[in-house]
Amino acid sequence: MIAIVLFGKPGAGKGTQAEFLKEKYNLTHISTGDVFRYNLKNGTDLGKQAQVYMSEAKLVPDEITINMLANEVEKNMDKDGFLFDGFPRTIKQAEALEALLKEKNIRLAGTVALEANDDILVARILERGKTSGRADDQDEAKIRYRYTEYNENTAPLIKYYQDKNVFHAVDGIGSIEEITGRLSKVIDTLI
Ligand code: AMP
Repeated sequence: MIAIVLFGKPGAGKGTQAEFLKEKYNLTHISTGDVFRYNLKNGTDLGKQAQVYMSEAKLVPDEITINMLANEVEKNMDKDGFLFDGFPRTIKQAEALEALLKEKNIRLAGTVALEANDDILVARILERGKTSGRADDQDEAKIRYRYTEYNENTAPLIKYYQDKNVFHAVDGIGSIEEITGRLSKVIDTLI
């Protein structure tokens, strides 16, 4: 089995692209944000634990997130691999992922980043907020705070994965189809 990490700031298009890529490569798509939102909606213990952080656009603590991710992987060992979206977001999560993949004999085929500048992304998220129903998509201060979290905690992962020779970047500006094409071109070289 393989694992691909889709990387990129909030609004970069990870979720949209994951919908195509999971079909094309027969992968289980795990979006940690989606799993947290599902648990929040259903009032589970995990949802309650995550709520305070999510409502403030802060990262949920690593321990909670890592346990949740490991559970999701455990439940979905039936496809050709995994497409992770929104995980890992810290070095600690990346280290935990590495250990988990090793234990499950899953190869990290690569991490692919969707790149776009912040102003375009903020505009996209505000647009998405009109229909997504997500409070964190509707408040510009919260959106900006998610970028602060990204720059402080997640951006160091670029070097982390570059050093392991598994980091690839793709231009995230263009039509959905164009970007799917760019991502597929990279992923085809990894699998
Ligand atoms: P997203 O849908 O990826 O933008 O995530 C929405 C929110 O869920 C984030 O602002 C965090 O509060 C939480 N979250 C999602 N993924 C993670 C993660 N890997 N680590 C910590 N918090 C996360």
